[in-house]
Amino acid sequence: MRYIEPHAHMVSRTTDDYERMALAGCAAVCEPAFWAGFDRSSAAGFHDYFCQLTEHEPKRAAKFGLQHFCWLGINSKEAEDVKLAAEVIALIPEFLKRPNVLGIGEIGLNKNSRNELRVLEMQVELAATHDQLILVHTPHLEDKLKGTRLILDVLKNDRLIRPERVIIDHVEEHTVEMVLDGGMWAGMTLYPETKCTPARAIDILETYGREKIWLNSACDWGVSDPLAVPKTALEMKKRGHRAAAVEKIIFANPEKFLRQSPNFKLPG
Ligand SMILES: [Zn+2]
Repeated sequence: MRYIEPHAHMVSRTTDDYERMALAGCAAVCEPAFWAGFDRSSAAGFHDYFCQLTEHEPKRAAKFGLQHFCWLGINSKEAEDVKLAAEVIALIPEFLKRPNVLGIGEIGLNKNSRNELRVLEMQVELAATHDQLILVHTPHLEDKLKGTRLILDVLKNDRLIRPERVIIDHVEEHTVEMVLDGGMWAGMTLYPETKCTPARAIDILETYGREKIWLNSACDWGVSDPLAVPKTALEMKKRGHRAAAVEKIIFANPEKFLRQSPNFKLPG
């Protein structure tokens, strides 16, 4: 099996996880900037994190034969402080020149607050100005539907943003259609307990088709499974999906989206 893990928070994982992913057939891992589980107290904390994502984590991944890419941004959980967010956003252009950076992400909404929305707009503008791909985090549970609508409105209002260069992550049954109808890509996050279980994700694929959709584990410091993508691929095979259809979802689709960034190159 060959697959791409398009959304994983590897700074939270051990080298055992890297080894297991490599053994399972992972060709590349992509790491969006995220909340650390606690709020950083200054822009300097983000600066160090962006260095970790662009300098140190690629070296750790390379020890296991894995290509490491990242996305940069300030996540919605830390976007209540607009002044701090502006300082963090000002740091990003310098990092966009680094060779493993794919775009701006994960950005989005968490509680759908006014400040989160303002910071989202600032980062969409940053992506537009620098012609970057965008990876969006959508809120969970009861905030998801409203939050996804608000996010799609922000993206549609920016005429420089091309929908095929945006992936909206953590979609579920009630949000996947509006994302695909808007011409954007949809990501399904596979979690052992919350978000999409493998069975739910496969139900969604069987309902909405296999175009412009990818699967990811979003494994982080919480309860999550870095092998969720290959395990779901196995489940797809058990349910009668052909090998080519599985390969499309776990490799060809993410590769098609990600290679829109000139930095996304897989070893031959
Ligand atoms: Zn994430």
